[in-house]
Amino acid sequence: MNALAEGLSGPRSEAGDVVELIVLRPADASAVLADAMAGDARAYGIITALRDVIALVERAPSHEPKVCVICSQPLRCKGFAVGLVMPTSENPGHVLGLGVCRRCARSRGDVTAKLMKAVRDVWPDVRPVTITHSTGGRA
Ligand SMILES: [Zn+2]
Repeated sequence: MNALAEGLSGPRSEAGDVVELIVLRPADASAVLADAMAGDARAYGIITALRDVIALVERAPSHEPKVCVICSQPLRCKGFAVGLVMPTSENPGHVLGLGVCRRCARSRGDVTAKLMKAVRDVWPDVRPVTITHSTGGRA
């Protein structure tokens, strides 16, 4: 099982085959943090996944950097985006955050499609949905 397939096992066990894909750029984080601090459980799940991805990227040894899930280039500490795969429940327990390099993250529509393709390679039956509540609507 590769790292992506392993990471997806949590959301997969919780979500059936329906997940929401969200792409967050650095500029999006403060709004999600504000929602989390206001008690939004989904926003809290997103912030937790973001924190985990940032920690993994920053703590990765330079000879073994974390890589972009789309293009496999090393992620630099500054300016990367995070793709999130999350169950559609109000209070998701398993949110997987995936690093997306600056270059791949440039166009949001494009990056969501590329992220979907990367996820679908290891989870062929997955069905993405778009949720229009406050947090998802910003993604
Ligand atoms: Zn990339």
